[in-house]
Amino acid sequence: MTLGICKLCGDEKELQRSHVIGKTVFSKILKESIGNYLVDISVNNQKISKSNDTWDSKLLCKECESFFNRKYENYSVYVLRKKQNGVQTIEGNHGIYFRNVDQSRIILYLCSIYWRAAHSTHKAYEGVRITNELSHYLAYVFKGKFNLNAKVFSARIRLIADESKTFTDDRIKMIVSPYFRFKGKGFVFCMAYEGYFFELFFNASNFKERQQPGFLNKAISSFFVPKVDLIDLPAIAMNLAQGIEIHQALPDEEKIKILRAREV
Ligand SMILES: [Zn+2]
Repeated sequence: MTLGICKLCGDEKELQRSHVIGKTVFSKILKESIGNYLVDISVNNQKISKSNDTWDSKLLCKECESFFNRKYENYSVYVLRKKQNGVQTIEGNHGIYFRNVDQSRIILYLCSIYWRAAHSTHKAYEGVRITNELSHYLAYVFKGKFNLNAKVFSARIRLIADESKTFTDDRIKMIVSPYFRFKGKGFVFCMAYEGYFFELFFNASNFKERQQPGFLNKAISSFFVPKVDLIDLPAIAMNLAQGIEIHQALPDEEKIKILRAREV
């Protein structure tokens, strides 16, 4: 049992092995992979490895852990997997249209991933920083005491497509640990999993941009997730390409395992 200070409520309690990107995301890939491991791509470290690590660290007490899951994560993951009751989805050539969605819960889910990543001590999230001010502000927002300022914080979700079929279905089976890019006066927190590319903009989007497809808007109940081709996500495409290169240099036995993991 590890006693420690919970990052959300600030009480000294038994800390859980908390996940930032939910365990369910890892479980899904691990379950579908014959070798029971996934290919770990870290853009920050330019490193790719085989792993069954689910990137957890002691972060929150049981109550706060379940608070995040109940309030934001379960709902958002179910919506994105097209399994949430009451949410209708229409899939077309250009993306997925979602109807009847509580978008504010998804925006806050993405904020909560950033917040937890910044507090996590796991190496997958080591480049992620947060100021004390922003951390406290977001904690209040999660608890419903403040409304998120939509001009400062915005989120975009796109579906990763691979029109050239360079990487076949690897995009579905990958989790790309968060990385940042600078934009204007602010920055964008980026990550990818379950075939989606997520971006959280901090002081880095203007009104016109926020009207474009893929940007979430808590004031309306439908949203469209457009496709984005891997070619337009160079950080991710480059890492996938490197991954394949490293894979090709592996001894044959190892190679078969990885191929199997990707085949399913
Ligand atoms: Zn707590």
